[in-house]
Amino acid sequence: MDVMTSIGLAVDILAKLKKVCGAIKEADVQILFAELQSQFANVKNEASDLKIELANLKEENLRLKNSLLEKPEVKNGTYVYPEDSSRYCTACFDGDQKKVRLQPYSHHLAPQNKGFKCPICQNTFFEF
Ligand SMILES: [Zn+2]
Repeated sequence: MDVMTSIGLAVDILAKLKKVCGAIKEADVQILFAELQSQFANVKNEASDLKIELANLKEENLRLKNSLLEKPEVKNGTYVYPEDSSRYCTACFDGDQKKVRLQPYSHHLAPQNKGFKCPICQNTFFEF
């Protein structure tokens, strides 16, 4: 049940309670109070879930904003950022929005060819 449905039910119960108060048996009033309490508990739980979801979305939004502000340049298949001498994996950034710093790398059969290797996706990038 979503938060708006719960609030609607709670408001309906409150309206019924207001209508019957004063003229009806106490047992009916107690039942309506119990229903009202239950609906407000649902609202509280759903609001708590929404608060967590909002915090997660704010965090994701901030991360995405930051990634848009930083404009990398492509150099030999890697990303480079202004004022940062490190190289970053294009595959991890383009696929998963992860800024992964590459490690210096050279293949054991051709140690003269220097390059970089991604510690996450294992892609290699060579300077030519
Ligand atoms: Zn990678």
